Amino acid sequence: MSEYIARVLDGLTARNQHEKEYLQAATEMLESLAPVFEKHPEYEKASLLERFVEPERVILFRVPWVDDQGKVQVNRGYRVQYNSAIGPYKGGLRLHPSVNLSILKFLGLEQTLKNSLTGLPIGGGKGGSDFDPKGKSDQEVMAFCQSFMTELYRHIGQDTDVPAGDIGVGAREIGYLYGQYKRITGLYEGVLTGKGLTYGGSLGRKQATGYGLCYFVKNMLERNGKTVDNSTVAISGSGNVAIYAHEKITQMGGKVVAMSDSNGYVYDPRGIDLDVVKQLKEVERARIREYTNRVPGSEYHEGCKNIWQVKCDIALPCATQNELDGEDARALVANGCFVVGEGANMPCTLEAVDYFLRKGVLFAPAKAANAGGVATSALEMSQNSQRFSWSFEEVDEKLQGIMKGIFEKCADAAEAFADKPTNYVMGANIAGFMKVAEAMMAQGCV
Ligand code: NDP
Repeated sequence: MSEYIARVLDGLTARNQHEKEYLQAATEMLESLAPVFEKHPEYEKASLLERFVEPERVILFRVPWVDDQGKVQVNRGYRVQYNSAIGPYKGGLRLHPSVNLSILKFLGLEQTLKNSLTGLPIGGGKGGSDFDPKGKSDQEVMAFCQSFMTELYRHIGQDTDVPAGDIGVGAREIGYLYGQYKRITGLYEGVLTGKGLTYGGSLGRKQATGYGLCYFVKNMLERNGKTVDNSTVAISGSGNVAIYAHEKITQMGGKVVAMSDSNGYVYDPRGIDLDVVKQLKEVERARIREYTNRVPGSEYHEGCKNIWQVKCDIALPCATQNELDGEDARALVANGCFVVGEGANMPCTLEAVDYFLRKGVLFAPAKAANAGGVATSALEMSQNSQRFSWSFEEVDEKLQGIMKGIFEKCADAAEAFADKPTNYVMGANIAGFMKVAEAMMAQGCV
């Protein structure tokens, strides 16, 4: 690490001591960037890194709402507008009790680099609340979403900031948020993505993150003379990303033997039946343990973390940050796993990533591998602006092209700057950062 980067990291750590997720994401990025600053000494003169690691704006607000018992509840709402150098802020809203500023700043940073990698004109942002939609009625979720948007609407717009879904925010929540935005502003505009198909959503958006992850993995395998065909796959999570990663990796010839939720995981040696998972998670909002009641011969194990003990060739962590640590990484490698593709944001700890890279595991980092969702969100924005919609096939074809392009950017940057041509972590950080850096330099001290 260069003296300049070390100094920026020290300053950042001193100022944000309690933000462990943010410091983790920033450390991973900064550790990759030494070659960029060697090549561009002018960046240090312009304090580019000091500016980059400070979000442009953080909005924090009260979200009061009335529950089904008539009691007033209060949550905290956030929007981190991280970086707008290359386009309007773009990034999801997360509803989960763990949400705090550290998590949203880490997600904002990751989003900025990810959006840059897509090649599309979108800046980075992230938001959400510590509200927990689990166990709430539709009425309560609507009351929360309406109150949340009543504060957020003044900070967003189709040309300023375009939120989307993330953990706990799916089609239902986006619908309630959009309805309230439209009611307050009177504008029928593409201010949110992940919308329903009857009011401006894009075909293929629901599938895009999971499918995109598999397209990235496929490109990575092909470059290294391997294929998905006949591989055994473990996928953590059973939400939006996990479900559509299962769908696509199965179409590519893989067999998914394990999936999870935050309580535990199911193992089905004949291959997890995706129709059952969709019914449980998309329709009934049930727990994954229910799977064993519907599919004889499958097993349920309490504790979601143990999923990484399952023997697999390909591991796709698609649940949440830091769900796969050094111990899990060692278990996976010992069991013969040779590919890890991050569907969730930062699901692997720094120790796990380091172990995978040292052991020669083909590792697809989140900011590149899960960029298909936001890329398709940008395609939804384009369709909204044109007042037009594309077919599923058109969107999917564009997504495949975008994921191939992202893989190639990571591979080229790794080839040019990293210790190994397969260090796509470094490749993604450098390629993502360079475009934002050039735009920030061009726009002066802002
Ligand atoms: P969903 O809410 O649809 O699903 C999340 C899944 O992860 C659920 O199975 C959930 O289980 C599990 N999970 C959530 N929190 C935890 C936790 N603390 N410990 C263990 N399991 C947990 O979210 P998404 O599928 O949309 O998002 C998953 C990941 O992918 C996130 O990291 C998100 O940031 C990332 N991502 C999502 C994109 C998208 O387009 N949706 C785009 C790019 C990245 P339970 O139901 O029990 O909580």
